[in-house]
Amino acid sequence: MKLVKLIANLGYGSRKQVARMFREGRITDADGEVLYADDKVGHDAIRIDDEPLDPPAGLVLMLHKPVGYTCSTKDPGRIIYDLLPPRFRLRSPLLSPVGRLDRDTSGLLLMTDDGQLLHRIVSPKARLAKVYDATLAEDLRGDEGAVFASGELLLESETTPLAPAALEVTGPRSAHLTLTEGRYHQVRRMFAAVGNHVEALHRSRVGGLALDGLPAGEWRVLGAGDLELLF
Ligand code: URA
Repeated sequence: MKLVKLIANLGYGSRKQVARMFREGRITDADGEVLYADDKVGHDAIRIDDEPLDPPAGLVLMLHKPVGYTCSTKDPGRIIYDLLPPRFRLRSPLLSPVGRLDRDTSGLLLMTDDGQLLHRIVSPKARLAKVYDATLAEDLRGDEGAVFASGELLLESETTPLAPAALEVTGPRSAHLTLTEGRYHQVRRMFAAVGNHVEALHRSRVGGLALDGLPAGEWRVLGAGDLELLF
């Protein structure tokens, strides 16, 4: 890929603006030698204003989404992209959330610009386990685990029953719920179906990946080792 396109795709500016950055001598190699738009150098060797380039295409990151942010590019309120460097919103291909968390749900959200990986993760066939920590308005009745595990629970206005889900009760009004699918507002609707109400919801794990102390609002780029843990 031509350098101008590569750098523009990372959100540094339009192709015209990046071409100007070349002319201004702001784009160099690691030794500070000015690069020209038709030079042949790899991503890692490029510096802009002495800074290494943002991660290349194929980026996967983990965000600890706080409550109050929507998984959207357009929303009048706070959006997950507000938590990332501004350039990340301008990348092409777009860095998209892998599935969604509600505005009022916190926790582990993956984002990627790799469409194939995204589909592999969200595909129902992947049956990737997602663990949610739910805080409830009412005491648990005791039969919820059996109902959720039955594979027969039908949510309102749906025609296909939910896949079996595992409930681990952690207190009178708290539980971990492990799902292998991702339907709209699924956890909240499941607890509503058993006469309860979710007051707080946090996703603590996706596949073998956990937040591992990543503070709310922070993110980190995932490496090959992380992705091996995922599946
Ligand atoms: N289930 C929900 O109800 N909300 C989420 O954000 C995720 C799963």
